[in-house]
Amino acid sequence: MELLIRNGFVFDPINNVDGEKMDIAVKDGKIVEKVNERNAKQIDVSGMVVMPGGVDIHCHIAGSEVNTGRLLRPEDHFKDFEPKTARTRSGVGHSIPSTFTTGYRYARMGYTTIMNPSMPPLEAKHTHEELNDTPMVDKGSYPLLGDWWFVLEYLSDGAIEECARYVAWMMTATKGYAIKIVNPGGLEAWSSGRNMTSLDDQVPHFGITPREILRGLCRTNRLLNLPHTIHVHTNNLGRPGNYLTALDTMKCVEDLAREDRPTIHITHCQFCAFKGSDWKNLESGAEEIANYVNAHNHVTLDMGQVIFTDTTTMTADGPFQYTLYELTGNKWVNHDVETETSSGIVPFRYRRKSYVHAIQWSIGLELALLTKDPWKIFMTTDHPNGGPFTSYPRIIAWFMSQKARKATIKKINKRARSRSLLPSIDRELSLYEIAITTRAGQAKALGLKNKGHLGIGADADLAIYNINPDTTDPSKKYKTLRRAMRNAAYTIKGGNIVNKNGEIRRHEKGTTMWLDVKVSEPVQITNDMKKRFRDYWTVEYENYPVTKHYIEASKPLTTKADV
Ligand SMILES: [Zn+2]
Repeated sequence: MELLIRNGFVFDPINNVDGEKMDIAVKDGKIVEKVNERNAKQIDVSGMVVMPGGVDIHCHIAGSEVNTGRLLRPEDHFKDFEPKTARTRSGVGHSIPSTFTTGYRYARMGYTTIMNPSMPPLEAKHTHEELNDTPMVDKGSYPLLGDWWFVLEYLSDGAIEECARYVAWMMTATKGYAIKIVNPGGLEAWSSGRNMTSLDDQVPHFGITPREILRGLCRTNRLLNLPHTIHVHTNNLGRPGNYLTALDTMKCVEDLAREDRPTIHITHCQFCAFKGSDWKNLESGAEEIANYVNAHNHVTLDMGQVIFTDTTTMTADGPFQYTLYELTGNKWVNHDVETETSSGIVPFRYRRKSYVHAIQWSIGLELALLTKDPWKIFMTTDHPNGGPFTSYPRIIAWFMSQKARKATIKKINKRARSRSLLPSIDRELSLYEIAITTRAGQAKALGLKNKGHLGIGADADLAIYNINPDTTDPSKKYKTLRRAMRNAAYTIKGGNIVNKNGEIRRHEKGTTMWLDVKVSEPVQITNDMKKRFRDYWTVEYENYPVTKHYIEASKPLTTKADV
């Protein structure tokens, strides 16, 4: 199938294309130099914006945690449902939509690649079953490895190469894409009712500190040449004063930076940019964090923007979720995953009139607007923790329009308004910068070579939005912008039109990307290793790895390690 997309304003930052009017040619699912005009299907997109398909580096969309959230919250389904159509299945859910609906909703917004950031290795099979059922997008998942006993043991012994070989084994066994670390050491401590409060606390029983886990896995990541950096949810997340922990976390791997490449990704940074000693005097630490990131090149961030709505919080950070339960008194789930991790779920409503929630809303945007280089901070809500991913068009409007920000600031808690840095920030992002923070930057940080851009050979994943930059100023007409971003005029996945003006036109399966990490001496599955499985887990080795046939549209990416 050949396709020629004509006359659009193209925004392709990886190839330095900034709103040029040009044609894009597609053949066999890839961007090509040209096609035969007589054979190709032509779409005239005059007056519209053409971008690479959206990329989401961090959204909880699959796995036992997400599914437990669905079970916990029937009220989330009742109020938001989609009927079946000739091409799509029915589905439900405002903050935790069912799998198929998740895929459709991303496709409507022009997204084509999404990453599920929190996969307990023991529950990897469930995660992949749900990813199989999430259509329209390519996807991947990050196994939680920061509190896995094997990692703690090897790092505590200083056996970094051994640790790397086991992480390589785990990455391939779980069909994962990146090393996820949540509250390093804190989740293991939580299994005996404790937590970590600084990078130098001792993890019970293991003789190791969060600092050593972070540095060890950062070095492991480098030894294995993984495409993404370590993906870190910091210690003390969600606690006043934690911006200092976030700074410590970034600093602790500063000397491991190689050239100008990032070595650490701090996820949903809003939740770890709190200044102040308690909730009453909570303030924004966004400026301090942005200053640090502006001065260093080894860090990337994503926002974790808060949206004023009803949502469902879910993280592997069991102790944090317990605190949230204590704060809200809501129904909750807390869960310990054997030798690997923990997790928790609490329903949550962010209110404009709450001082704390309004400060949180402000912090996310402050971080994004004060960080000068859009290649360093990416748009997320940590879906569904800060709000559902369907709110992205709102955030884009706040990015591009001071007027949109003012309209919301007017409605928030008065004391929070007086403390917000937003009124003093007049920066408005351009469409080029939007293309970076919503796709190009995210694809680059993930090391996805064929995504996030429209160069020759790239995957033909595109989003076309019905907004004309020549005649419409998004900073003034931010509602028009929001509408255009909510329902893309076209979403093209692998060279096929899958969405037109919000209507799903075609079902695409989407691949699951995972890393096939090649090490020179792979971990041997000996009787001793099998015994460790029997001793440590309730699952025998034979039932543990996700075999290849488990993934319906499998896309292994081979990585050659230095060990
Ligand atoms: Zn998250």
